[in-house]
Amino acid sequence: KNYKNVALIIGVTGIVGNSLAEILPLSDTPGGPWKVYGVARRPRPAWNAEHPVQYIQCDVSDEKQTSAKLSPLTDVTHIFWVTWANRPTEAECIEINGGMLQNVLDALMPNAENLSHICLQTGHKHYVGPFELIGKFKPHETPFEEDEPRLNVPNFYYTLEDIASEACKKKQGLTWSVHRPAVIFGFSPYSKMNVIDSLCVYAAICKHENVPFKFPGTKAAWNCYSVVSDADLIAEQQIWCSVDPNGKNEGFNCSNGDLFKWKRLWKILGAQFELEYIEFDENEKYVSLTERMKDKGSVWDEIVKKNNLEATKLEEVATFWFVDMILGFECFLDSMNKSKEHGFLGFRNTKNSLISVIDKMKAHKIVP
Ligand code: NDP
Repeated sequence: KNYKNVALIIGVTGIVGNSLAEILPLSDTPGGPWKVYGVARRPRPAWNAEHPVQYIQCDVSDEKQTSAKLSPLTDVTHIFWVTWANRPTEAECIEINGGMLQNVLDALMPNAENLSHICLQTGHKHYVGPFELIGKFKPHETPFEEDEPRLNVPNFYYTLEDIASEACKKKQGLTWSVHRPAVIFGFSPYSKMNVIDSLCVYAAICKHENVPFKFPGTKAAWNCYSVVSDADLIAEQQIWCSVDPNGKNEGFNCSNGDLFKWKRLWKILGAQFELEYIEFDENEKYVSLTERMKDKGSVWDEIVKKNNLEATKLEEVATFWFVDMILGFECFLDSMNKSKEHGFLGFRNTKNSLISVIDKMKAHKIVP
């Protein structure tokens, strides 16, 4: 079969990669029917295997391996960059993440004649700086707007943008787009940062131990207006940029388009696990989720066994450090005006997004 559009998802088992793997092959997806290749390092997990995607196990930080496995993919037309590597310093992040993107482009550009678009996923750190510098200098004013100048601090997101735009200068007709979500609500037990996954694991542990389901964040996070980004919505925006001329060579925020407060979402989250709602108590001492969960590995093993769940270890399925970071501060807001003005009108109701992610986690037997 001859496909007009052929996607290469780098990070196909990640929080947005898995959504792209689900949505791209659907018959009514814009630009479809798409042929889809998906890359990740680990063997393909069962929860990803239902998507009609050609799975390629490859470590894109390894130049030789990337060249061997990706240069034969001569039919690729679109790259979806939904991966990243974490390192202790931003200088190291720049080196490894920049190297990964360069390796993939070096493997494809001389061979994939019809390569036409590169979608890069970055995020709000574009506006607040890397994790190691958050709080140490003044970030951009909120709500974040896409056309603010870059901050004067190193950031691997800027490196990715520069590499992609350089590549586009070298090949006629090749375009890029950058997608900057807030915290993502999505399904992937393999994600390095998954707030909902981690909170569901916490909820299951509270239920199992019959202890109150307390909000593990600060008063500021409990009460403030927050925005998040549904993983399927991000995938939809990336696909829109892939096929619509208005989406080319631009950066776009991508959040749900509504505001919520954690104090309300907490009730909905607890209800999914039949947990009683408890108000935030500002007289209680702050205890991070990492601290609360530090000895719970064997409790999680018991929960997995008792409920016949997919075998997972607490440290892989939950990323408590990320929850602590997100629920430690007042949320940064962004603006969706530019995206809408350019023609992407997608949105999500955050409450429904939360429930749909939890339903997927239960259906795949990741949580009870
Ligand atoms: P995830 O951690 O969810 O997924 C990463 C994917 O990439 C996995 O499939 C992983 O599988 C794969 N991968 C990792 N390293 C390699 C490698 N060397 N070679 C091949 N595949 C690899 O990614 P996110 O979607 O979270 O992150 C993408 C971008 O989005 C990042 O820049 C992040 O900062 C940003 N972002 C994320 C947010 C979130 O809430 N998660 C919020 C806002 C922005 P495997 O490990 O098996 O290789």
